[in-house]
Amino acid sequence: MDKTDLANYPALTYKDNQVSIQLNFQGAREYSKMSFPVKYGLFSRMETDKIVLEFNMNHEIKHAKAKTLDWLHPSEWLKRTVGNDWVYYSTGGYAGVYEALGEYYLPNLMYQTNCLLGGRPFETTQVAKISSQWDKILSEIDTNKRPIPTTIAQWLEKIKTITTGDLAQKAEKLFNITGARTTVLPPDARHSDYDIIPITIQDGCLYKCRFCKIKNKKAFIERSRQNINDQILALKSLYGKDLINYNAIFLGEHDGLNAPMDLILYAAQTAFEQFKFINAYMKKPMLYFFGSVDALLKADDRLFYRLNELPFHTCINIGLESADDTTLSLLGKPVSARKVKKAFDRMQTINQNFAQIEMTCNFVMDKDLPASHNQAMLDLIRKKIPRTRPKGSVYLSPLQFGNPSRQILFDFYHLKTQSLLPMFLYIIQRL
Ligand code: SF4
Repeated sequence: MDKTDLANYPALTYKDNQVSIQLNFQGAREYSKMSFPVKYGLFSRMETDKIVLEFNMNHEIKHAKAKTLDWLHPSEWLKRTVGNDWVYYSTGGYAGVYEALGEYYLPNLMYQTNCLLGGRPFETTQVAKISSQWDKILSEIDTNKRPIPTTIAQWLEKIKTITTGDLAQKAEKLFNITGARTTVLPPDARHSDYDIIPITIQDGCLYKCRFCKIKNKKAFIERSRQNINDQILALKSLYGKDLINYNAIFLGEHDGLNAPMDLILYAAQTAFEQFKFINAYMKKPMLYFFGSVDALLKADDRLFYRLNELPFHTCINIGLESADDTTLSLLGKPVSARKVKKAFDRMQTINQNFAQIEMTCNFVMDKDLPASHNQAMLDLIRKKIPRTRPKGSVYLSPLQFGNPSRQILFDFYHLKTQSLLPMFLYIIQRL
């Protein structure tokens, strides 16, 4: 988006002794890793002495935080996702958040996940109140008693007509377009602050591993081009005016890499054109998907050459889980350690040869796994790599949900110090 297009979104401010309003505020245009709160995209803000509420270009609430003393921390905030979850971004109260996640802020989720860090912000009064009753709080802000410029008054009217129920319905509509809720996003989606547009190019997965909590019953099946076109058109209308704030897509579901090469490229290119990413407010378009060991081993080399030429930076996350046969069998994952090692080698080759592609992988972690699991993983991430590399993150995914553990966190840091690849924790996050 250049200056001419930005002129279509004129900034406007209004202030009286009760409320201050900024329309079309220009936030950061590139996702970055900062130790202070950064807001991205074009949005509008309303602020009183008690609360800050921010709205996207569809007049839907996007961020909120209280300014009262009972708010947990002045630089922490709530963000509402397009799937209508609230996420509380905390500093973690803990110096190790960046080392553990690769991000300065820890996303605290409303639902149970495998995170080892963080507290229970949704049990505090202000976070619980804002996330469930923001529309009531908004309706109680008195904006009627004085003359207000027409543009501001119209904006106020629009934000007040959208209720929590409307947003829940809209999220359902999103899940219907893609066929189901995205129950897990790749860990790499953190590079876009999880602000992605999901497009389902295939359903299900190949393995149906016993340990996996996010799998569904669907056998692997690819979608047709027509179906992908229909999704893109419906998504375009659903994201509406806020589409300009997006430049990242997730090609779901659990094994996008196993879809035919032409279908992957078709979905990515069509989305780029239809969503007009060339004109997005956010810079650096990103493409994310998952892949399985078998999908990676059989993938045509041409796919990577062609992905590398797309106007996206592509992150493909491979679920390796373990390079140890005993552990794979305990997990009920029907692949051999030999194949996992081959897949790992191919990931390194791709990472070395394609500047616009990053292959990342996941390994599970749990205190009850055999010692041979960590040993086999370290053999890959230490012995197979000649020196420290900045590309090709390894994510460790705790097996247990809802069970933060200092011991497992300690084990993670111990492994991290030994890895020659960047290593982070994988927090399972849905859309
Ligand atoms: S880990 Fe991946 S392949 Fe295995 S069941 Fe879960 S989604 Fe399917």
